[in-house]
Amino acid sequence: MLARHFAVLLRPAKKILPTRFYFALALSKSEEEKNMVRKTEVYFGSIQQGRDAVFAALGAKVDKIVELLDFSTIEKRDKVAIKMHLGFQDGYQTVPVFFVRRIVSAVKQVGGWPFITDNPTSVYNAVARGYTQETCGCPIVPAAGVKDGYTHSVSIGFKNVDKLEMSGVLHDADALIDLTHAKGHACSGYGGAIKNLALGGYSAKSRWNKIHGVESSVTHWNPEKCTPEHASELVKTCPYNALKYDVKKHKLSLLLFACRNQLCLECLKIDKEAKSLQIKPEFFAAFQELMAIASKHVLDTFDKNKQFFLNFILQVTPHCDCMGMAQPNIVADIGVLGSRGIVAIETATLDLIAKAGLIEQAIPPYFKHVNLDPNVDLHPFERLWGPMKDPYLAIKFAEKHGLGSRKYELIETLSCKETAKMEPPKHAYERQPSFY
Ligand code: SF4
Repeated sequence: MLARHFAVLLRPAKKILPTRFYFALALSKSEEEKNMVRKTEVYFGSIQQGRDAVFAALGAKVDKIVELLDFSTIEKRDKVAIKMHLGFQDGYQTVPVFFVRRIVSAVKQVGGWPFITDNPTSVYNAVARGYTQETCGCPIVPAAGVKDGYTHSVSIGFKNVDKLEMSGVLHDADALIDLTHAKGHACSGYGGAIKNLALGGYSAKSRWNKIHGVESSVTHWNPEKCTPEHASELVKTCPYNALKYDVKKHKLSLLLFACRNQLCLECLKIDKEAKSLQIKPEFFAAFQELMAIASKHVLDTFDKNKQFFLNFILQVTPHCDCMGMAQPNIVADIGVLGSRGIVAIETATLDLIAKAGLIEQAIPPYFKHVNLDPNVDLHPFERLWGPMKDPYLAIKFAEKHGLGSRKYELIETLSCKETAKMEPPKHAYERQPSFY
């Protein structure tokens, strides 16, 4: 009920403003054309610091990035949705509340009314992972109400998905901060800002039954070429339990999240003669394209000047936060990125992760087919999840669907070089209030 009341308070406040007017007035046509190909700025704060001082550390860099992102396009009293994944159960490797509080505070400073939103389960037990109204500084609201039914239908028309139920709360909000933990993902190699909106921006039924399920529209198996005995053999041979056979229906399902595609292909070895099964790129690509489409529908409900993206590349885990468990960090901490372009920030995030590479000793033993050959050009997430789960795919589809350009300019703020030259103030331990 609380969520519904809050949602009612928000309705029908959404205001889509024209693009910043001074932009439109000031630019000549040729300048506009130049801007079309201009690289999108992506601000970067590295975990590395040039001084052992507060001003050179990540907290200060997050503040600086928020300043550069320029929240002044948020209007007074705007309802600002901070879309996060607050994790499930024991999954504590999400965006630290320490940073969330600072971002919430920055929204309040420009007169916006921030609230954090995610699926109702994550909101309900967010306290277990340290997120409360008191710690974050703003309400935490279920994205589609407490019973996940406060939604807005959008037509999709992609493969077997006719429509999806978008979060009513996101639909109502005036401005959006897509606040994301960058990590691996079993279905797409990578889960970032696009995933945060595409899966987290819809009700559970849409998320689990439709978005996770679109791959079934791509044929991967020919029942006429496969006997029940052969199907059972195929199931037994898969080291990741990615094949399920229903004897009654004579139906072999391939589970997108479990299959390691080109890293493995054990099933195809015993299917050589029957040729009933296919492990093909289209099967893996469908989910990524639908994620791009679904996130576009969410973003289309916001004015372009009221969309902000922050990616935290800290505690990068192999699986997504939905697993609800603690996991080893498989990439060394990199830092934080901020941008006004979702495609640009996602590309920059993946490029930085590619540069950092995997921490080999952190890879869990249940990844049995990891490709660590340095001579093979694969992204770290492809080395784990297989090349058909290309982490850049959703980004390429997002670009295709008009969500922005992959061309970006990485602008490092408070870099080691810069902060090494800065004179630190005298360091004080146990700053105020002092209790002794
Ligand atoms: S490729 Fe490997 S993981 Fe995928 S279904 Fe075949 S055996 Fe299973």
